[in-house]
Amino acid sequence: MKKSAKTFTYWIDIVGACNLRCPSCPRGNFKPGDVMTEMPPSGLMDFELFKECVQRAIKEGPSLNPQIHLYNWGEPLVHPEIPKFVEYLREQEIYCGISSNLNIDGPLRDVIKAGPDFFRVSLSGFTQPVYGQTHQRGDIERVKKNMIKIRDYLTEFGTKTYVEVNYHIYKHNANQDLIDMIAFCNELKFNISPVWAFFLPLEKNLLVAEGRETEADRELIDLLAIHPKKAMELSMPYKDRDCPVRQHATVINFDGSVPLCCNTFERQHIVAPSFLDVDHETLQKAKYENAACGPCMDNAIHTYLAFEAGEIMDEAGNAVLREVGSPLEIHQYEQPKVRMLDGTPIDIEAKQEGEIQTRKKIRGIRKLLWHAQNFGTKATAP
Ligand code: SF4
Ligand code: SF4
Repeated sequence: MKKSAKTFTYWIDIVGACNLRCPSCPRGNFKPGDVMTEMPPSGLMDFELFKECVQRAIKEGPSLNPQIHLYNWGEPLVHPEIPKFVEYLREQEIYCGISSNLNIDGPLRDVIKAGPDFFRVSLSGFTQPVYGQTHQRGDIERVKKNMIKIRDYLTEFGTKTYVEVNYHIYKHNANQDLIDMIAFCNELKFNISPVWAFFLPLEKNLLVAEGRETEADRELIDLLAIHPKKAMELSMPYKDRDCPVRQHATVINFDGSVPLCCNTFERQHIVAPSFLDVDHETLQKAKYENAACGPCMDNAIHTYLAFEAGEIMDEAGNAVLREVGSPLEIHQYEQPKVRMLDGTPIDIEAKQEGEIQTRKKIRGIRKLLWHAQNFGTKATAP
């Protein structure tokens, strides 16, 4: 197929399970007899299957510059062989991203040694009483120790991995906990991005849109600064936009099956039993014809979950933070991202340049390789 220089992303869930049970995530909020038809299978991806998926993405995917992230609804550090997965992507000159709750450190040293391009740490507090509410089963002291280990390993191996902390903003944690986590990240020279916590998966958002959420869901929703219904309302002006996660990305489960998108969880939303047996066009057609997209787009959930409404989300979230007495304002969509109520910024020292430069470099390498393979000559500059 004709390839484009535009990035196409593959979310390969190398672990179909998680060690935590966050209530805003289906790993924590899907209960038997709740709304689900069938739970997705759980397990670890076989390394040979992974290599075949990567080769198929390179050869038959739409992009000269595919990016591969080793997670979707799973915790990648649970996989004891994850360093091999990272090494393989590095050998293939493919961008490699990881996102972790960092409560596990077993393979961490070898993962950093292998040098993924991007490593995200997701958390929601600096102290256990705050963090434990929304990262259930997690231990923030263990996470902080592991963050220090990452810095030490980066120094030991001289790897250039770009590390970013995603601080999920709820009503109860935009306070001294965030200020302390920013200071901790500044010491470690990690970037930190505050992001409004959203309610997932799609299936639960559809219930909210119909006013059929469960009592347990209501309790979780009450912790959010931006109610899902408010987020849908604010995203309505953008509801006719195409959905970026079906247009520019494909998810591959640990067993090679392909779900509709990164926002769906139930097994009924699998659109292909095997990524290896379906071509890109057929897969895209199956996604675009899936019945779940209609109600999702009618309620603007696809744009809300892709953060497409921009600064108006900040305004809505900050209005709620003021009501609950938060001393901070959050600006997910503009700098400075964290400010005191009088506008004084809380400085975040590390910037995002590392990631941007790595992406540019890999795009250049892949383009050269593609032209060399197909025309036996070098590409002109992009
Ligand atoms: S750590 Fe991530 S995948 Fe695991 S339960 Fe929490 S949000 Fe879900
Ligand atoms: S429109 Fe909704 S259900 Fe369909 S792919 Fe996008 S996020 Fe998923």
